Amino acid sequence: FYWVWSHSHEKLDTSLCACLNFSSPLSFLPQKWLQATDLPKEVYQHLAGYVPKIYCLGPNLNPTSEDLLAQLLLQAPLEWYLCGEDPLVGLAKLEKNNQPSQLCGHVFKVGEPTYSCRECAADPTCVLCMQCFLGSVHKEHRYRMTTSGGGGFCDCGDTEAWKKGPYCQKHEPNICDSSQEDPLANLSADMIARTYNIFSIMLKYAVDMLTWDKEDELPHGLEPPERGDTYYCMLFNDEVHTYEQVIYTLQKAVNCTQKEAVSFATTVDRDGRKSVRYGDFQFCEQAKSVIVRNTSRQSKPLRVQVMHSSVVAHQCFALKALTWFSHVIRYSDALRRILCQVGLQRGPEGDNSLVDTLMLCDSKMWKGARNVYHQLYMSSLLMDLKYKKLFAIQFAKHYERLQSDYVKDDHDREFSVTDLSVQMFTVPSLARMLITEENLMTTIIRTFVDHLRHRDLQGRFQFERYTAQQAFKFRRVQSLIGDLKYVLISRPTEWTNRLREKFLEGLEAFLELLKCMQGMDPVVRQVGQHIEMEPEWEAAFTLQMKLTHIISMIQEWCASDDRVLIEAYKKCLTVLTHCHSGFADGEQPITLSMCGHSVDTIRYCISQEKVSIHLPVSRLLAGLHVLLSKTEVAYRFPEQLPLSELSPPMLIEHPLRCLVLCAQVHAGMWRRNGFSLVNQIYYYHNVKCRVEMFDKDLMMLQVGASMMDPNHFLMIMLSRFELFHIFSSADCRKRYNRESANKDVVQQNSTLIEEVLHLIMMVVGERFVAGIGQVESCEELKREIIHQLCIRPMAHSELVKALPENENKETGMEKVIDSVASFKKPGVTGRGLYELRPECAKHFNLYFHHYSRADQSKAEEAQRKLKRQNGEDSALLPPSLPQLCPLFASLVNILQCDVLLGMLGAVLQWAMEPSGGHWSESMLQRVLHLIGMALLEEQQQLESTLDDNEVTFSFTLKISRPGEAPSTSPSILAVLETLQNAPHLEVHKDMIRWILKTVVSIKTMRERTAAAPPPERAGGWQEEMVRDKDKAERKRKAEMARLRREKIMAQMSEMQKHFINENKELFQQSLEELDASTSASLEHSPSSWDSVLVCVGPRRWRGGRGERRQVVTCILCQEEQEIRADGRAMVLAAFVQRSTVMSKNRKRPPHDPESYDPIFMHPDLSFGTHTGSCGHIMHSHCWQRYFEAVQAKEQRRQQRLRVHTSYDVENGEFLCPLCECLSNTVIPLLPLTKTSCSNGEQPGLVQWLNTTSQQIKALHSAHRKAKPTSEYPDHAPPPPEGFRPDHTPINPYSSSIKEMLTTFGTATYKVGLKVHPNEQDPRVPIMCWTSCAYTIQSVERLLVDEQKPLFGSLPCRQDDCLSSLARFGSACWTVSSLATVQSHFIRLLAALLPDPQVENSRCILDVDMFHLLVSLVLSYPAVHCQDSSGLSTDIAELHLLHLVTVAHLVQILLTSIPVELTMEQESGGVEHEEESVCLLYNTLRSHIGSCVYEVSSGWHLWRAVKAGILPFLRGAALFFHHLHGVPTPPELNGASEWEVLCAYLSLPSNLLQLFYSYQEVLEWCSHPSMRQCLQSPETLISFPRESNKLIELPEDYSALINQASSFTCPKSGGDKSRAPTLCLVCGALLCSQSYCCQTELEGEDVGACTAHTFACGAGVGIFLRVRESQVLFLAGKTKGCFYAPPYLDDYGETDQGLRRGNPLHLCRERYRKIQKLWRQHSITEEIGHAQEANQTLVGIDWQHL
Ligand SMILES: [Zn+2]
Ligand SMILES: [Zn+2]
Ligand SMILES: [Zn+2]
Ligand SMILES: [Zn+2]
Ligand SMILES: [Zn+2]
Ligand SMILES: [Zn+2]
Ligand SMILES: [Zn+2]
Repeated sequence: FYWVWSHSHEKLDTSLCACLNFSSPLSFLPQKWLQATDLPKEVYQHLAGYVPKIYCLGPNLNPTSEDLLAQLLLQAPLEWYLCGEDPLVGLAKLEKNNQPSQLCGHVFKVGEPTYSCRECAADPTCVLCMQCFLGSVHKEHRYRMTTSGGGGFCDCGDTEAWKKGPYCQKHEPNICDSSQEDPLANLSADMIARTYNIFSIMLKYAVDMLTWDKEDELPHGLEPPERGDTYYCMLFNDEVHTYEQVIYTLQKAVNCTQKEAVSFATTVDRDGRKSVRYGDFQFCEQAKSVIVRNTSRQSKPLRVQVMHSSVVAHQCFALKALTWFSHVIRYSDALRRILCQVGLQRGPEGDNSLVDTLMLCDSKMWKGARNVYHQLYMSSLLMDLKYKKLFAIQFAKHYERLQSDYVKDDHDREFSVTDLSVQMFTVPSLARMLITEENLMTTIIRTFVDHLRHRDLQGRFQFERYTAQQAFKFRRVQSLIGDLKYVLISRPTEWTNRLREKFLEGLEAFLELLKCMQGMDPVVRQVGQHIEMEPEWEAAFTLQMKLTHIISMIQEWCASDDRVLIEAYKKCLTVLTHCHSGFADGEQPITLSMCGHSVDTIRYCISQEKVSIHLPVSRLLAGLHVLLSKTEVAYRFPEQLPLSELSPPMLIEHPLRCLVLCAQVHAGMWRRNGFSLVNQIYYYHNVKCRVEMFDKDLMMLQVGASMMDPNHFLMIMLSRFELFHIFSSADCRKRYNRESANKDVVQQNSTLIEEVLHLIMMVVGERFVAGIGQVESCEELKREIIHQLCIRPMAHSELVKALPENENKETGMEKVIDSVASFKKPGVTGRGLYELRPECAKHFNLYFHHYSRADQSKAEEAQRKLKRQNGEDSALLPPSLPQLCPLFASLVNILQCDVLLGMLGAVLQWAMEPSGGHWSESMLQRVLHLIGMALLEEQQQLESTLDDNEVTFSFTLKISRPGEAPSTSPSILAVLETLQNAPHLEVHKDMIRWILKTVVSIKTMRERTAAAPPPERAGGWQEEMVRDKDKAERKRKAEMARLRREKIMAQMSEMQKHFINENKELFQQSLEELDASTSASLEHSPSSWDSVLVCVGPRRWRGGRGERRQVVTCILCQEEQEIRADGRAMVLAAFVQRSTVMSKNRKRPPHDPESYDPIFMHPDLSFGTHTGSCGHIMHSHCWQRYFEAVQAKEQRRQQRLRVHTSYDVENGEFLCPLCECLSNTVIPLLPLTKTSCSNGEQPGLVQWLNTTSQQIKALHSAHRKAKPTSEYPDHAPPPPEGFRPDHTPINPYSSSIKEMLTTFGTATYKVGLKVHPNEQDPRVPIMCWTSCAYTIQSVERLLVDEQKPLFGSLPCRQDDCLSSLARFGSACWTVSSLATVQSHFIRLLAALLPDPQVENSRCILDVDMFHLLVSLVLSYPAVHCQDSSGLSTDIAELHLLHLVTVAHLVQILLTSIPVELTMEQESGGVEHEEESVCLLYNTLRSHIGSCVYEVSSGWHLWRAVKAGILPFLRGAALFFHHLHGVPTPPELNGASEWEVLCAYLSLPSNLLQLFYSYQEVLEWCSHPSMRQCLQSPETLISFPRESNKLIELPEDYSALINQASSFTCPKSGGDKSRAPTLCLVCGALLCSQSYCCQTELEGEDVGACTAHTFACGAGVGIFLRVRESQVLFLAGKTKGCFYAPPYLDDYGETDQGLRRGNPLHLCRERYRKIQKLWRQHSITEEIGHAQEANQTLVGIDWQHL
């Protein structure tokens, strides 16, 4: 027997092996083990010897080599023993024989996408991994996608988790189902025995070590042969101390750098512990005491242990061993089963199994250890169906202890073993088994209740006495409710007696819990003074909210079994009765009498005594009572129900008090009780709570009322509302005469009357719950959706939010929504909306019980408007209602009872006279609505029965009866008839008319059935209808006219108010129109004498010169001002920013700002300076005043509030005073430069070049002379005739213009180079020219990308900006030193015209020709101003253009000729051009040689040249157009573009002709770096440069999530990134918003995104936060905002935060919109607007993202 390290031997570091001296004893080890009598001892001996030699040998652990050694020396022997042969062979055999179970069990990583099916998942916790999902049937269903928080596994293959399609293709079971077979059957007995042996030893070892709590000792048998004085100072994680505290403390305690401290802290946070010091005991102890001392001040100190290195080593290997188990059992289900068996085996004395031991020590272990063993549990115990059950039982047995440990522990639940509950409790069969066998339901509830300690005298919870720590525990203990929810998720389909028994036992425990809540947090009305301190109320509501779903589920369970329902009802009633016995003291009995009825009740004044909002026991009973009706148990087993014990007045008492409390709060009676009460009332009605609060209270009233005399019910109600005295008095109809005393009281009572009327409506009318009314369950939901959509069209997410959280939300809504609404798709912004179908409007009920007051008035307005638009009556009639169930049938009698009629009559009587505050419109409206309801009820009853006598409802009869003596008041009908014509009731007229009409028709019906055949409709009827119609039509027209008027008025005031801010687009549009019209009139289409428009050169268009005055208005002072060189300066607000939008090389490192020479732009355009403007014009002095004011204001604000604005004033930023557009400087507006039209003969190119080079020589010598240190005597030739280098030209500009020239120049310089402002720097003018060129280039690109014509399509603001930039550029030399600008010109020209006196001239391949052209043209005036020979600048510009064009031609020929000529040659080429381009190309080739390959097709060459140079020509046209204000040619797109463009630029359309007039081309080719450039194609730029795009995004968002889930933080060694963020510009994935990836940037720590923007986007960045599905815009370190992502779900909505989980798909239009913002350089502006609109964005530390 020999043992070879065949595998992975090579990898081993031999020196490491040598020092361990292992080779001889180990080779026979497995053999020895196989024969051993005491195997555990042998193995322990081996571990004792080797583990401390492999692990923990020094402070800097090297895990890879450690793990490799452990693999060879520790794990390999185990595997050999296990297999009895080479594990490579043995494990492969095992894998081959394995019959894997159908469970997928893939454990999710943090951030990995998970999928669930809304249609088929048994509950929302059932999820699939991406792989299984893609192979499942659910991908065609309505699925849901989320990102995993880590932990949890794929449920594919679990038949209980899915109602349909439990298997994906991969996990589909074989036909011969082997799942029932014992997996051990395939294993030899030997193998089983060996596995069993080694697993027992190793698992025990691992458990012992991980639960080991001695710092300096080891378990028996593991003591190291030799032990040194080597210790670790181990720091443990807690959730109390912050990162900063830990980092600070570490720096002090172990004397490390900030960086090391950060790394320690990160590891501690991730793994739960980290050794921070290694050395002898003393050394470590010292660090420990410093850490403890430093962190014990405010809280308990950080946990630190000084541990012996051998202990740490064994713990390391113990973890490794657990990982090894996970690895080995993957080969075979049999091994997995053996591991489970070993783990769950009890000790010899029945003591805890190893699995139990580990679990029970959970809260004592560190995070890393917990994670590893939880993972092992998941891949072993939870994957084996047999042992999952056994484990679940153990888990349930220890449940209470585990939870208590968890509550005391401070780690998040994801690190607690209790988090595994979801894996077991959500399996229905297991949950049910645990309930019956382990009484789990009761255990959970009892454990929960035990943790809520504070009670009042009645045993109710008292949260206000909780300390912070108890509150913290309270939060943690809430997870138990989550467990309870899991257990109850699936309702049993079959009940056993035992299940009934245990469920009812659980219910009893639950009722005990509810009992502690019944009546908690009571409130007493505060009179006189306002309350001093807002009482604590949130805890109670949190509890209620958490329990809401549970209470609903318990009712569902009860409803599924008759016997359980009956028993539950009895138990609930008993508990309620018990509760009431505690409340009743001090309530005196009284008798109420009214309208001939009297009732006994108690005296109870809600406005004076205690009242509580929390009544869960009453509410549960109400729910169960309705279920009695729904399940018909009430009719089938009435004898088993304690119905006779019920006391309706007792049942309604507390719910009624609660409802009255709400009414009184609405009436303003509880104002002094502060916001806490308002909030409670809000939540009481809120969708999160109402199902088990408000809804159930209403139900309880319905329950009570259905069992009482309606008159009695109403009298009690009036009494509790404290309104009884008003309606019971004999002369109540004259109320307003008596009670004019206190206006407040009158007002309060009015509101209360409105509320009581509303409550009556609800008690009678809310019948859409199955069991109360005869409806299907879905009808309730349908009604809810209809009423939401009656308010306004809503997005899917809004509707979802408005619905309570139950299964309806998942799928029920989908079934209903299309039947009531139609979908409207969203545009580029906004979201898709559902609109109510018109035919559903008839279901609208203004008094819908879930409407808040605001909802109600919005809905009322919307519905009235709709009716007007349809030309209908504006009356909002009550809708027809479903029939009540028999148990509730008597509710309708409320509508015709004497007390109600008395109330109705009283209100109507009050309404006879105009209200002086004594009755209210809404009171009347409600009364009319109630009458309408009653009439509809009668009508319905009449229609549905054949025999009239059966109809007991006779409302019409009763309202026709006059009051009885002595009051003898008129009948209600009579009053209504009078009111019909009352002028003060115009708004109610339609309603009253409808009521009267309905009364008539009911009477007709009754007569019809009483008398013989029903008469046809009487003629009078029809006439009336015609009259109605006429009237309606007139009304409609008047209404339309009014609406139109209103709309116009509204528009006007809107415009005045918000000017453009709100109507930005409209504004821009109108400006554009205006601009178009003015330019048309000014530039009157080119006249006949000027047949060709030329923008440059001597032939340039000069029409209208002189007469053209430019007059503009200052937006600040509104004064008009002419633009003149000697006038007051006018400026445009402008924003200068650095840009990489057009960059072709994002790898180029940023320049060093101090030494960078910007004179030549590289053709890769890697960093540019962009100038934009909102186009708003001000006087320079007006702007200065404004800016000073902004500065002062900002200073005050910072002092006072320490908050920042969206703009950085210190950096010169401000918002345009008109449009609030972010700006950081201003551009002066300049008149066109006057150039004298020289008539003299102008020189040709060669002659001009000669003259110019003479001038340059003269300048060189003049500049040298000017320098005092000049060493050489000057022997320069005399300057050319008429050139005077000593001449100083007169500056034509006024002082204010000069000042502004300096301002803008300095700003461009400062921003463009990122330097401190320095107006003397020679680079200032260069930066101005560069910015002009770059901005024009980017505008040209944008127009191409948007497919817009070159001229006429720019918004006016951009036109103005470009003109100002060009004219500014040509004037900026006047404020710089002449010599500086001249030497710039000389250097620029030297690139094309070699000049021996200029050093380091550029190779033409390294120059962007457009930048060169612009700079040359703009710097030339500095030379020209000293010339008096009559040379014109026009001819100079033309020659410069020609020269640069030729250079660009050569540049293109050298760089941009495609290697492969794939394009088919078209016939009809232009032969002349083709020939000459061939000629030029070949000349170049012969000169440069091998770098340029041969091309013989002139057609292809010419094509490539034309395409390459077009952007340049277009840019040049834009430039000269704006510089000289030459009108644009009419035709500049389509086929003739080329010719028109050449003509406009005064170029021959065969550009090669230029080459003939300038033959110096070859000199360029001899530039020393030319060859080098051509040989490095990766940096060579070819023309035309393509526009940059944002990266391609996948169609399906989950592809992105998946991509990001495998992304690891680049700095912390394979860790998952918490906030993976994608740069949309270059596609880089970053680890954002975390400490690990912070870097230092300009002396400040910044997050990965901010750091990235500086390299990738010159400070501006566009990112997609993958896990949040959110776009992030960043600019600089302080600015940022979130932006809607370009991904939409099927409902046309984005899902920022991925909360909804609908599948998301790329919306290309939205993505294009983001791309456009970027290309337009509008990201910063967008951020500015977002921050102005939402101040909270300003406070975010964007630089940390
Ligand atoms: Zn899976
Ligand atoms: Zn699967
Ligand atoms: Zn499905
Ligand atoms: Zn002004
Ligand atoms: Zn503006
Ligand atoms: Zn990037
Ligand atoms: Zn990171």
